[in-house]
Amino acid sequence: MRKSLGRMVGALAVVTALTSAGCGRPDTTDATGGGERTGTVGIAMPTKSSERWVADGDNIAAQFQNLGYQTDLQYGDDVVQNQVSQIENMITKGVKALVIAPIDSSSLTDILQRAADADIPVVSYDRLIRGTENVDYYATFDNFKVGVLQADYIVDKLGVADGKGPFNIELFAGSPDDNNATFFFNGALSVLQPYLDSGKLVVRSGQTSFGQSATLRWDGGLAQSRMDNLLSRAYTSERVDAVLSPYDGMSLGIISALKSAGYGTPTNPLPIVTGQDAELASVKSIIAGEQTQTVFKDTRELANAAVQMVDSLMTGATPEVNDTTTYDNGVKVVPSFLLNPVSVDRGNYETVLVGSGYYTPAQLA
Ligand code: BGC
Repeated sequence: MRKSLGRMVGALAVVTALTSAGCGRPDTTDATGGGERTGTVGIAMPTKSSERWVADGDNIAAQFQNLGYQTDLQYGDDVVQNQVSQIENMITKGVKALVIAPIDSSSLTDILQRAADADIPVVSYDRLIRGTENVDYYATFDNFKVGVLQADYIVDKLGVADGKGPFNIELFAGSPDDNNATFFFNGALSVLQPYLDSGKLVVRSGQTSFGQSATLRWDGGLAQSRMDNLLSRAYTSERVDAVLSPYDGMSLGIISALKSAGYGTPTNPLPIVTGQDAELASVKSIIAGEQTQTVFKDTRELANAAVQMVDSLMTGATPEVNDTTTYDNGVKVVPSFLLNPVSVDRGNYETVLVGSGYYTPAQLA
């Protein structure tokens, strides 16, 4: 009885794994480790220009290698065609699985059809791959909550919930071709909108839509020049009190623009500036009292979630998911595992970032 139950569970796991991966693999035999932990996993990351993706890539590769897999880790330098070519090479070389953080969420449809034709399962990493059925699982953070955390921070610090204000705020969004960018923006607006409606928060530039606030490729230089423009057009006689910034690299650009316009002195302090990723330069800026907040997303945990998904597929188990409704990629809802983002500022960076071993005190000195 025990044995046949075991066999049934094993068989079920294979069926589930094969169905969910949309492909067949002769070497995935049972749920108890009978599958093979051999071969190469292809890892396609967007860019090395942001330190978080370097950490992601290193963590994913190390964790796969610890399990016995080989890895092929490539960075696309934020050029869509580079990433497509890198994935194409991985498929040609016969990788067992692909872990992809897309540069442009919607430009991988053709290449992922080729992956599917070669029975290579795909895990979408951090950013959702859109417009294809050939993405099996998605490992990410609760992206809506990232925006909520940024906006909650602004609202709390300004005291608008306690009736203070009105205050001036400017809004920045991420790259329009990254599915996450709208989640962050919508999450933030879910908190800010009532105060914008009541006039307790005022966007003096008038640029309140996602399209007006978006920043192609999350480029810090573009954010800096947009902030320059906003300041010279809308803030000749007024102060800006808060800036919603979705990503640390943009936050630092925005702070440069603010300093050039005379902010950052005792009589004209910097506004609240949010961020995301807890990148080293931004954490140092937070410690120095310039950037105000960031959202920490532990890349070790995200790497672990993605590696577990692939490893489950390879060994005939079913990947763990905790969300099967949120991430519709236009063709299907991709089963997802969402991790929890954490708001970090000067008050808790030591506990959260040093306490967890993410950074050493020496790195922050
Ligand atoms: C990620 C963020 C990151 C941004 C820019 C987004 O897809 O979720 O963590 O700040 O890309 O790299």
